[in-house]
Amino acid sequence: MSEKPQNIAPARLESNRLAGKVAVITGGSSGIGKATAIRMASEGAKIVIGDLNAEAGEQVAEEVGGSFVSVDVADEQQVKNLFDTAAQTYGGVDIAFNNAGVSPEADASITETDLETWRKVQEINLTSVYLCSKYALEHMRPAKSGSIINTASFVALMGAATSQISYSASKGGVLSMTRELGVEFAREGIRVNALCPGPVNTPLLQELFAKEPEKAQRRLVHVPKGRFAEPEELAAAVAFLASDDSSFMTANAFVVDGGITGAYVTPL
Ligand code: NAD
Repeated sequence: MSEKPQNIAPARLESNRLAGKVAVITGGSSGIGKATAIRMASEGAKIVIGDLNAEAGEQVAEEVGGSFVSVDVADEQQVKNLFDTAAQTYGGVDIAFNNAGVSPEADASITETDLETWRKVQEINLTSVYLCSKYALEHMRPAKSGSIINTASFVALMGAATSQISYSASKGGVLSMTRELGVEFAREGIRVNALCPGPVNTPLLQELFAKEPEKAQRRLVHVPKGRFAEPEELAAAVAFLASDDSSFMTANAFVVDGGITGAYVTPL
């Protein structure tokens, strides 16, 4: 899994597709958010990273010539501050990639997941998207323009016997909320779409492969592409949703999953 597959989306693109746009990216210190910051910056956007992890976030911000704002996405005042700071620094908010999320080990089958864990995951994965969308809209509505992309997951569309009950429910909520926002604000120049990634080749997943290969294989067998996604492949999809290239797409669940949700029997 450590070798990069061939023919994948480039990490950077020589393009001015996002020139003059200001993008707020939550969870931009790591994984999909970080890859998206790099990709969007290469296409001309000004980047504001919002994350709990200040050390990594400052580094990404420096790499892309943008800013970092410390934020807990479940805290209303901190989220408001994130979007207000982006607007004050760069003159507006054109793109909101509401992407920060968690999947703690304690969130598993409903039979063993306690209420505290359930609530924590709902706060960080779902309430956060409500808050980020709300405060992004405060800047987008007066401008009559904007693109909001909320990270859901393929598990919002299909069930897994390897359950993460609160995570799956939170991502289902992200999908419905996104649809509703997309419809409500469609005539105000604002588009709202959800990203549904399949499993991504992250350090967590690499660890699972190293430690428990049968568990990893149990998941991999369902992916027609025969591998997990690279963060750059999600970043390219987000840059598309952020740009005018997707100008007729809103209230949509954009699935980037290597074919999982379309598959019955996968190739040998
Ligand atoms: P990641 O762990 O690499 O990055 C998540 C980032 O969110 C981290 O930088 C973390 O510090 C930040 N974060 C966590 N809690 C926060 C909080 N309360 N406030 C602010 N920042 C916070 O994860 P990733 O794999 O890049 O996942 C990004 C998104 O994609 C998540 O919403 C995740 O659920 C979703 N997703 C991931 C996968 C996958 O396989 N990795 C698949 C489908 C969906």
